[in-house]
Amino acid sequence: MKSGKFIVFSAPSGSGKTTLVHHLLDQKLPLQFSISATSRPPRGKEVEGKDYYFITPAEFQAQIKKDAFIEYEEVYKDTYYGTLKSEVARIWSQECHVVFDIDVQGGLAIKKQYPEQTLAIFVQPPSIAELEKRLRQRKTETEEALKQRLEKAAYELSFAPQFDRMVVNDELERAKKEVLALVKDFIG
Ligand code: 5GP
Repeated sequence: MKSGKFIVFSAPSGSGKTTLVHHLLDQKLPLQFSISATSRPPRGKEVEGKDYYFITPAEFQAQIKKDAFIEYEEVYKDTYYGTLKSEVARIWSQECHVVFDIDVQGGLAIKKQYPEQTLAIFVQPPSIAELEKRLRQRKTETEEALKQRLEKAAYELSFAPQFDRMVVNDELERAKKEVLALVKDFIG
């Protein structure tokens, strides 16, 4: 496979997107997760080179200068996330399609650059109130970070219509099946 396909998952933080992505990756399909680079420190049990490539803000800026990213974003103030070109090349060299778990702007940036090759899926939480509940249960954020995430969520929801497909994550098992069917159909 010289160049495979892109399957993008974007959603407000706490919408259950990561659970859906993990479920998809657990299937025996030729898919691999695109490990993003980020300038934020690891959280909880996150592992370097598995969840993210954790790099310093200075390294991140150096990679931007080198034009090493397909897309990158200052997702939260002073916190950068991006997809390295080398990561996509690595996955394609292993005959797999690339699965992204990235923010809404990044997802749309990839769709814009590779419209035919990309399936962009927006995972919608049932409501902002439910989102807040899930984020509070997760207990990984400070009150300030939580506030930032909720504000961003409301903004991100307005971009949903620009995605190819929207999956409402109201009932996890149903949403898992829906995602699997969409992706199987897309990769053929
Ligand atoms: P978290 O800090 O919760 O891991 O991620 C925060 C946000 O950054 C999430 O919405 C996540 O999807 C997004 N994100 C992760 N990697 C990338 C990336 O490579 N590019 C962009 N644009 N967003 C990303």
